[in-house]
Amino acid sequence: MGRYQDRKWSGEKGKKFGHAGRTEDPYFLEEGQEAALCTGCQALYQNKRWFFDEKAAKKLAGTNKVREVTCPTCRKIKDRYPEGILTLSGEFFRERQQEIVTLIENEAARVRARSVQDRIMNMNQEDWDKLVIETTTEKLAQHLGRAVYKAYKGELDIRWSEMDKFVRVYWKR
Ligand SMILES: [Zn+2]
Repeated sequence: MGRYQDRKWSGEKGKKFGHAGRTEDPYFLEEGQEAALCTGCQALYQNKRWFFDEKAAKKLAGTNKVREVTCPTCRKIKDRYPEGILTLSGEFFRERQQEIVTLIENEAARVRARSVQDRIMNMNQEDWDKLVIETTTEKLAQHLGRAVYKAYKGELDIRWSEMDKFVRVYWKR
């Protein structure tokens, strides 16, 4: 069971993102402002939710109707704080790595188009037959693991951290 359990996620997570303590809205809008705009990914924030609207973002950017901020997803990426880790490995993977990574990138782009919070934050070749992908949400790591499994079979293993919103997904073939 869980090699990852010796890593203490809970304290750090609470501190860094202040879910427990902070009460004020960090994206509070001033009088006359219509939305907050993430300068990293151009996501907009209105009525307490983040979404992509390219046209509206372009129209608002640089005006005083918008508050320029960094969205929680871009902050998570900047702080290198993944909630999901997908590990791909095996001989078959090594042979088909390029093809499999393309599938993952396409799938991630599709998800990203409709969801501000699901993003790949890092890919790291840890060994000649092993690639580790960090994602901003546990949902995306699972989704990508399942997509690879669906396309190539192999073995899929999803391991949840007991305490936190964090998942490790292993795919091997
Ligand atoms: Zn952003």
